Amino acid sequence: MNSLNFQQRIEQTLQIQFGVTIDHASKRQVYEAMMRSVREILSQKKFGYEQELKKRRVKRAYYMSMEFLVGRTLRNNLFNLGIEQEIQTYLSKHHISLDEIYQIEPDPGLGNGGLGRLASCYLDALTSQDYPVTGFSILYEYGIFKQVINNGWQQEFPDYWLDLGKYGLVYRSDEEVEVRFYGNIKEEMTAEGFRVTHENYTAIQAEPYDLLISGYDTDTVNTLRLWEAKAKTGFNMKLFERGEYSRSSEAEAIASSISKLLYPADSTREGKELRIKQQYFFISASLQQLVKNHYREFGTLENFHEYAALHINDTHPAMAVAEFMRLLIDEYHYSWEKSWEITTKTFAYTNHTIMSEALEKWAVDLFQPILPRIYSIIEEINRRFCQWVIDMGYEMTLPETAIIYDGMIKMANLSIVSSHYVNGVSKLHSDILVDSTFRSFYALYPDKFGNVTNGIAHRRWLGQANPELTNYLESLIGIDFVKDLSKISKLLEYKDDEKVLHALKDIKHQKKQQLAAYIQDTLGITVNPNSIFDVQVKRLHEYKRQLLNALHIVYLYQAIKYQGLRPTPRTFIFAAKASSGYDMAKNIIKFIHSISQLIESDELVREYIKVVFIPDYKVSLAEIILPAADVSEQISQAGKEASGTGNMKLMLNGAITLGTLDGANVEILEAVGEENIVIFGLKTEEVNQLVAEGYKPWEWYNRSERVKQTLDFIRTMTVGGMNFNFLVDYLLNDDPFMCLADFESYIYAQQQIEEAYNDEKQWQKMSLVNTAKAGIFSADRAVKEYADRIWHIQQVK
Ligand SMILES: *Cc1c(COP(=O)(O)O)cnc(C)c1O
Repeated sequence: MNSLNFQQRIEQTLQIQFGVTIDHASKRQVYEAMMRSVREILSQKKFGYEQELKKRRVKRAYYMSMEFLVGRTLRNNLFNLGIEQEIQTYLSKHHISLDEIYQIEPDPGLGNGGLGRLASCYLDALTSQDYPVTGFSILYEYGIFKQVINNGWQQEFPDYWLDLGKYGLVYRSDEEVEVRFYGNIKEEMTAEGFRVTHENYTAIQAEPYDLLISGYDTDTVNTLRLWEAKAKTGFNMKLFERGEYSRSSEAEAIASSISKLLYPADSTREGKELRIKQQYFFISASLQQLVKNHYREFGTLENFHEYAALHINDTHPAMAVAEFMRLLIDEYHYSWEKSWEITTKTFAYTNHTIMSEALEKWAVDLFQPILPRIYSIIEEINRRFCQWVIDMGYEMTLPETAIIYDGMIKMANLSIVSSHYVNGVSKLHSDILVDSTFRSFYALYPDKFGNVTNGIAHRRWLGQANPELTNYLESLIGIDFVKDLSKISKLLEYKDDEKVLHALKDIKHQKKQQLAAYIQDTLGITVNPNSIFDVQVKRLHEYKRQLLNALHIVYLYQAIKYQGLRPTPRTFIFAAKASSGYDMAKNIIKFIHSISQLIESDELVREYIKVVFIPDYKVSLAEIILPAADVSEQISQAGKEASGTGNMKLMLNGAITLGTLDGANVEILEAVGEENIVIFGLKTEEVNQLVAEGYKPWEWYNRSERVKQTLDFIRTMTVGGMNFNFLVDYLLNDDPFMCLADFESYIYAQQQIEEAYNDEKQWQKMSLVNTAKAGIFSADRAVKEYADRIWHIQQVK
């Protein structure tokens, strides 16, 4: 891409849209002109790529996900087009800072955390490697809420991102479809055979918006299709005239709620209904469009699976299998057997969690009225599956394996039965799936299960988030690693080179200074960039154990104050959103703030430790925090974190992992060797054993002086009139994630971290090895595994 062309486009857009020259344009106008110009360039490229794909009639992959945590797009696109430097120079000639323009773009927050970010990393990596893929999701009007902290408590505010975010979207009025809810089904024998029709339904219009996905140094452009719900005819005059006032505005009410908000609280019946509608809405729209296009091109759907691989990202899009069956049977009149054969060759499913509350289940009496035909298809899939299980002699597994059991529809079971491949997201997690969570299914389908360890878009998480390190690495080992992260292992040759170790230290220091400046500007808090930056940033959840981290800080506090401990200065950095109905998570956020306050009020302690909670964790914030980390806290209870990807981003940027043997930490350990990571705590089998024996937190309390001191101290703590006895009670009686069982081992691991850090050269070498060994955690590697082993798609240039 030539940047001159881009400059002309910006100036032309400014003229046409706003009637100004670049020297008189506001930042906001420059931003809009740049977003529009990028969209035009990508649209052109996409047109070319589509032509090529159509000509060659290749197989494509379709990635369905309730979440895509996209992050800002402008920098990513300029980076991929290879014109970021030139545009920066060009703008600065006109006294405009490119960085300030970037800041104007809202993060499209169409996701909660890791799962959504993974989906976006995968679209980026697939596109950079010229794989034809389309993402499908919902155009949420409000993304994940904006977090504000008030007196230590989280408050949620709406994130209306479309105002400034819409310039990246392309509206495709030619591909609207209708999605139907409620009503009843009519079954009848006709001259052509048995037919099912859906009657008296409420129709919602699905309007498509495309976010164009660029790849690095390639003309390939893929699409993330986001569906918006609109009432079909708005207010229904006929119904109104007949006196059916409430039904006349029903469609309007449904439509306005469906694409309003990401993950509305689903603790109420209405919340659950809305989730079902959201899920069906976007998968139905997506499949209708795919099936229609395929039939138009081939005149048959029998070869659908030869041209399309459909991926279910966790169970949220699992209804897709039933919707696909419905289209084949009801609309194209294929037999059940034929339709089932095509379906099971088309779908694959990735499981992302073994936390039982996250394995989706829907009550039949809730589900059936909303989607009567989809329910009847799931029922038939279940009936045939159960019969097969009985024939196989595995009848006793039915309470576990049946898709519908005890009045509940189990979406993971539906996904497994209907897919040709099921995978977990790290070696440990995939092993847990076949050994325990889906053990009975593994006995039934031993060949269906596999693993693809997660990966990250290194061009965003290193290339864009850490240009200082990227440029230095480029000068040292060449630029190849930007395209192919396995090449970063060349850095290992320098692991004893003092000059290189020194330069890496300087870069880390620079990133720490930048983060310190950010904290100063946004929170008015001064942090010392010479202290250890100890980072735990991720969604707030009990299983991730931010509380364990907080306990250790309290341990340090009382040891400094009463026992003469003088640790190496450390800044503990947290960032995390708690989901809005999750009280314990919100209490932990309050606890972290209270510890911070306690430390600040003590002249002695604050010389050594500091706690900073940075509000509103999101992709653009992660891009600032991760490159500045010395220590990466990955301290979930073993067996609970399916993979983690924050751990990979941190490792790539040279942070040392302090973690349990959980998720991808296991593979990080394998990659770097035990001298370059600090591992602590119970292993998965030990956790299971302890649960089986009965975890008795009091024993751990009585056994360890340090655990005891810490909890006893918390009982004496009052900050801003609040005490935290309830947390101590929780730790001593209820905590399912067994913080106390790992606490002693964690304190010891923290001491090891400190000792390693104090040996400056040794630490820098550890850091270098972590960066150099991060190659296998590139999303490029992960998506290639999906493409080769699961989807069977080829690269197309
Ligand atoms: C990477 C990322 C996550 C996932 O972090 P984990 O530590 O793997 O849970 C969550 N949120 C954002 C914004 C991220 O960039």
